[in-house]
Amino acid sequence: MIVNSERTIALTCPACQGIQQHTFSLFSISQKPLQLMCDCGFSQGHLRRLNKHFELDVLSIEGDRARILLPRHQFFGMPLIHLLSPVSGLSLGYLGDPPSVAGVVLAGPADSFLEADDFANPEVMRDVLKALEDLATHDKIRCDCDHSSIGIDVYFDQVELVCAYCGSVVRIGASTRQHQERIARVDEIVMEPCTSLFLGEWLKPLT
Ligand SMILES: [Zn+2]
Ligand SMILES: [Zn+2]
Repeated sequence: MIVNSERTIALTCPACQGIQQHTFSLFSISQKPLQLMCDCGFSQGHLRRLNKHFELDVLSIEGDRARILLPRHQFFGMPLIHLLSPVSGLSLGYLGDPPSVAGVVLAGPADSFLEADDFANPEVMRDVLKALEDLATHDKIRCDCDHSSIGIDVYFDQVELVCAYCGSVVRIGASTRQHQERIARVDEIVMEPCTSLFLGEWLKPLT
């Protein structure tokens, strides 16, 4: 089971019409509102903790204010939530663990979702994330240390699996056809405690 210490919110910005992704640590949200700033400088709204809920207060693409209260377990536990405006019922964006949100943003029908320069090869990235998600679903990603707790970080051309307990990192290339084929052959990923390896080297003993 992949445990993410981070969440991502992807919101359509009413000012520049772009999709802005905000990634934050679960521990950084308090009762003090966390401002969600778009790269264009527009403040999309805020996020804060409110007793047993999380309050998301944002502006929709139509410029209407939308306030959503999410119970704790949903906010922490759901891999992906489609955020709908309680007023208009229209999509505001997505909230969830970073790879799931990145995946839906890549796969999204709106072409504004797909920023060509976000990833070296969006198609390969989507396949690699999907493969990792499948492995995680079947408990096939773990660290050999005492308290395996694997998070995932997504970059321009690679993905990093990080053990939050021992700091072990595995980098997985996600930009070429070879990367795509390599990950498709992997049945299980067992991370060595506190080391940093490329998946290519790591696979050698198995081939
Ligand atoms: Zn903007
Ligand atoms: Zn570990």
